[in-house]
This record gives sequence, C-alpha cells and structure tokens, in this order.
Amino acid sequence: NVPIRNICCIGAGYVGGPTAAVIALHNPHVRVTVVDRDQKRIDAWNGRHLPIHEPGLVDVVRLARDGSSEGRRASSDQAEAGAMDGASRIIGTVVESARMPNLFFSTACVETIGQADMCLISVNTPTKLRGVGSGRATDMAAFEGACRDIAIHAKAGTILVEKSTVPCKTGQLIKDIMEAHRPGVVFPILSNPEFLSEGTAVRDLMHPDRVVIGCESTISGHRAAAALANLYATWVPRSRIAPINIWSSELCKLAANAMLAQRISSINSISAICERTGADVSEIAKSVGMDPRIGPQFLKAGLGFGGSCFRKDIASLTYLSESIGLPEVAAYWQQVLTMNDFQRDRFARHVIATLNNSLRGKKITILGYAFKKNTGDARESPALDVLRILLEEGPRRISIYDPLCSVSDIKRELTVLEAEYAACMPDGPIEIVSDPYVACTDSNAVLVLTDWDMFKNTKPIAALSKPVAMPETYDGTTGTTPNDILHVNLHMEQLAINKPSKPSVPPTSLLAELASRLIPEPTCPVDCA
Ligand code: NAD
Repeated sequence: NVPIRNICCIGAGYVGGPTAAVIALHNPHVRVTVVDRDQKRIDAWNGRHLPIHEPGLVDVVRLARDGSSEGRRASSDQAEAGAMDGASRIIGTVVESARMPNLFFSTACVETIGQADMCLISVNTPTKLRGVGSGRATDMAAFEGACRDIAIHAKAGTILVEKSTVPCKTGQLIKDIMEAHRPGVVFPILSNPEFLSEGTAVRDLMHPDRVVIGCESTISGHRAAAALANLYATWVPRSRIAPINIWSSELCKLAANAMLAQRISSINSISAICERTGADVSEIAKSVGMDPRIGPQFLKAGLGFGGSCFRKDIASLTYLSESIGLPEVAAYWQQVLTMNDFQRDRFARHVIATLNNSLRGKKITILGYAFKKNTGDARESPALDVLRILLEEGPRRISIYDPLCSVSDIKRELTVLEAEYAACMPDGPIEIVSDPYVACTDSNAVLVLTDWDMFKNTKPIAALSKPVAMPETYDGTTGTTPNDILHVNLHMEQLAINKPSKPSVPPTSLLAELASRLIPEPTCPVDCA
C-alpha cells in the first residue's frame, strides 16, 4: 500500500475546491492543500464567502478547513426530522469526532507540490481559441503548465491524477513531460474524471454513482490506483469504484458528456418539428421518457445546453475523431452542437419577429443569466448567444437580472460582445441590475433564460405567435410600447404553441407577482383568436 498523507490539488475552481473539500472531510488524517495562482480566488476560499456557490459547500469547507472542537453525531432520524444543522445534514449519518483542520488553500504552488504524495490536477481545459484546431481542440496550456510544475518540484514517485477533463491519450503527454524533466524517475499516472454537476456538486461528490479510476497496467500503476481507491472508499461503496484502463477512463468522460448533450439536442430537434405541426414537445418528452430503455432525464426542450463543459467536450471529441481519421464520427457529434446553436438562433429570431422585426426603441429584459439554476457560473450561458442576435437589432435597452451570477462575472462574459458591438458597449444598451422589478419595468419583452425556481409559475402575457400591438404614434425608432410586454418562456414549446401555461400552484412567485403588478394583459389590436 502506498501511504497518502499529503495531497496537493492544483486548481481551486468549480471542480478542485469542492472535490478537495469532500476528500478532506472524509479523510481527516490526510492533509489536503488546494493551490491556485489566482490570489483572489484563494483569499475567497480562505474567507467567509466562498468563490463558488454550491448547496452544502460552506458546511463541508468549514468543517475540514476550520476543524471542530467537539464531535458531531448526525443520525438519519435527525436528518428526516430536519433537526440537524447544515454540516450534519451534508454529512448524513457519518459520526464525527472532534477534528483538526486538514483542508488548506494556498498560492504556494511550488512548496505544496514538493510535499505531496499525490497531486490532483484540476485546472481549466477550455477550447483553443486560436491556432491549430482552433474552436475545437482542447487548450492544454494550463494543464501542461501544472504538469511542468509537478515535473520540476515533485518528489520521486508522487502519484499524478488527471481530474481535469482531457483528450484521450493525455496520460502519454504527462509521461513525456515528466520524462523530459526527470528522466528515469517513475511518476504513476491515474485518470480520475469528475462527473459532478454544478448546482449539485456536493451531493454528487458525497453520493457518486461511480468513481472511475484509470491506470496503466503496471505494478506501480495498480498500486497508485489502489491508493486513490482507498481515499474514496472512506465514504464511497467499493462496488461503485471502477478501476479501468487509463485511455478508457479519459474517453469515458467525453463520452458521458457527449451522450447527455445529444439527448438535449435530440429533443430540441423534435421541438422544432412540433412547432411546425402543432404537436406538443412536452407531451412527447413525457411519453418517450416513460420507456424504461430511454428514461425521462435530459429530455426537456429549451434553449439547449450551456456551461463550461458540454460544448467544449463535444468539440474535443469531434477534433479527436477527425485527427484519428474518423470524419464521419466527427460529423455525427458536430451535429449535436449545430442543433444547439440552431435552437438559440431560432428562439432569438422568434422574439424579434414577434416584436415586428425590429428592436429599435424597445427594451428587452432577460431574467436569468446562469447557464442553469442553482449556480452562479456565468460561463457559456445560452443567454450570450441570444444577446448577440438581439443586439444586431439595435434595442434601446437590454436589462439583465440573475439572482446568483455576480455583476463582474456577467460583465466578463459580455466582453466578447464588446469587440463586435464596440459602438454600443459598455455604455450602450446592456445593463445588469440587482432588482428584477427594475429590470422588467417598461419592458417590451421579458425573456426567462434560466430555469430558476423563482421564475416558476410564469404567466405568459402574450403568446408569441400573436401580433404585437404598436401605438399609433410609434415611429419605429423611439419610445416603448408598454402594452405590448411579452413574456417568452424558456421552454420552446410554450414559445411556439399559442397557449398560455396555467400556473400549477398559486401565483406567488416573483414573475407571477410581477405580471400582476407591472404588466397589463395585452389587448390584441387585430383578430387573433
Ligand atoms: P475553473 O476555471 O473554475 O478552475 C481552474 C483553476 O485552475 C483556476 O482557478 C486557475 O487559476 C487554476 N490554474 C490554472 N493553471 C494553474 C496552475 N498551473 N497552477 C495553479 N492553478 C492553476 O475550472 P473548473 O470548472 O473547475 O474545471 C476544471 C476542470 O474540470 C476542467 O477540465 C473541466 O472540464 C473539468 N470539469 C468541470 C466540471 C464543472 O462542472 N465545472 C465538471 C466536471 C469536470
């Protein structure tokens, strides 16, 4: 058995922070240090307000980072009665004794790597933006940088674990980097892809459906895999820990994300057919999902997938397929991305068409910027693609409200639009506001682009296929048309089918209240029955 006393996790992001915290929580005798070059991020992890929002994360981090002077006992009875404090709820039935802090956050990368028995590499691996493979290949610059730091500073025999999502055969790249800097020294390499979803990261880490550990078929590879498996086995049943071939492990993460995204594009393609035929995509999804061979998950039609993973992982898969001489396979997966773009495009154009093909002089409100509910992650939001198309029509104002995304994060995402719309950014039409009522005031259209619970019970004010009233004085360039406020729901089926959805519970949600307070029911100027 390889004893693991010191773990260094490189990258304090959405994966590194929560993963390290949960490993530390369940392995109180192991010192886990998360390092990052970003001083601000590390300061936040060491402070009261963590840099990422995940339900339960604060409790886990506090226990492992700050320790506790007395034991905590949490029984499942207490859990059911809701009588436990936050930390105990997360830990469930684990019986805790007093513990010393064993989770640390630091920018001292070199020193921490030098002391580690195991290095988890969880740095960002985005899509390359220029050069060979631009737009599809994985940008491995941060990953290679971390590997070089390890190669130079790590003790001989340190176990290297790929937690980042990387192209198949990255294990060989790590080996080459190690060999170039430390010829002849053995560094066992493992692949341990992370399957957590943002918004449920702690739950996913606490109760993973599988832990995949890929290793080389060597004695040192198997020993290293056993050492990592032992860390997980402190809270994950052994039956869920799957040791596999390292290349399978690298590829299985891309395959899982590609298949999940493919289901979303598949149902979205059906939604487009529904809108032309009068079929209802939600009825179809329900019926199709009742087939146990298919299942109900990931069958919700909408704006398509966003976030930092699905798009880039499928792009990486298409690039890999092409580079190994499989253009048909690349084309197959490319279509999943094409369908996703089509969906945003279709949605935005539908909004424009409904507002009489021009946004000049009009105000649009966007409720929800995060790529999905329960996360403050603003990366790769579907809203960005919608915004890009709306901006082309020269709206007077676009107001954005999101309950969790920070203004600075949204602004950073919008910088990509600055170059394209230099004339109107940043003093131009876009404003990010912290009050949803302010965001909606005087709007011509309210678009709900994230499925936040607070926007549930939405009450479409006008179905999109109805013509929009224009005041007689409206000259097409100035002024708003407050009677024409239009609510466009996230779900495409409601967008296309000319029937307002009925709230299933009393209209207490924000948007329902908003509708009754601010938005008058439209009076349709022409016969649109
Ligand atoms: P992130 O951008 O939130 O965090 C990465 C961190 O690594 C950044 O803080 C960056 O400063 C740091 N970093 C980069 N190079 C470094 C270096 N050499 N030394 C020290 N720190 C360095 O990224 P993330 O969302 O946590 O994703 C990390 C990886 O996990 C990616 O490969 C991603 O595809 C994968 N993944 C992400 C998710 C998710 O939901 N976000 C889920 C599963 C897998």
